[in-house]
Amino acid sequence: MFGEIGQGGLRFQLFGFPVRIDPSFWIVTVLLGLPWREEGPEFVLLWVAVVLASILAHELGHAVAGRWFGLRGEIALYSMGGATSWPFGRNLRHHWQEIVVSLAGSATGLLLAGIVYVATEIHSLPEWFHLRVTLFMFYWINIVWALLNLLPIVPLDGGHIMASSIHWFRRHEDPALPHLISMIFAAAIALLAWKLGDTFGALFAAYFAVQNAMQLRLYGPIHPKDLRAALGVLLFVTAGTFALLEYLGLLEKGFLP
Ligand SMILES: [Zn+2]
Repeated sequence: MFGEIGQGGLRFQLFGFPVRIDPSFWIVTVLLGLPWREEGPEFVLLWVAVVLASILAHELGHAVAGRWFGLRGEIALYSMGGATSWPFGRNLRHHWQEIVVSLAGSATGLLLAGIVYVATEIHSLPEWFHLRVTLFMFYWINIVWALLNLLPIVPLDGGHIMASSIHWFRRHEDPALPHLISMIFAAAIALLAWKLGDTFGALFAAYFAVQNAMQLRLYGPIHPKDLRAALGVLLFVTAGTFALLEYLGLLEKGFLP
């Protein structure tokens, strides 16, 4: 995702990529998993293991896609999730390569969720509660994490995809437009989350809106052409999101432990 990354924590290599797990990752993940202790303490451990596997898989998606194009990625997990950084630079020749690398994280998550879904459709699961709960967690964490990261908000993956797409389709560099779209979208999500009573989500989205507003200020007054383009993109993304939610609503009916 984003943010400042320290240097401490657990280090190891995975498929040739250096991985570092910051202590803050364990703290936040355990805190988020605490409600599971009502089912039993082992469910909190299962939660931590599933979150670890899911976020690692997401970042591995970015790192592997980067390796296809000759980049060298390093993975870090921390309080806000995960991040793949490119200590030797992220110099890609084409916009579509940027999009593939940004998309690869969420694509991996959705693929894994799809595999779990298909596997449970084909094989009837044994009546083992722990297995069912583990698959349930794995399925939903991967879907939610993938969709959250695909929101067209800089610095999320979706924000990078949106910015690369804009630069691809409009020949000239327009550094303000991605931040304008991010700001409007994040502010809309903050309002929606607040209306739905999700204070944490509202604060999180508001943080992104403010961050992009501050970036936007660096580029001077907003151009009316940019505003029209931003509203067009947002209309397109909102329509696409509703179509996807409709589709996921159908998935939800089919898979519950
Ligand atoms: Zn990502």
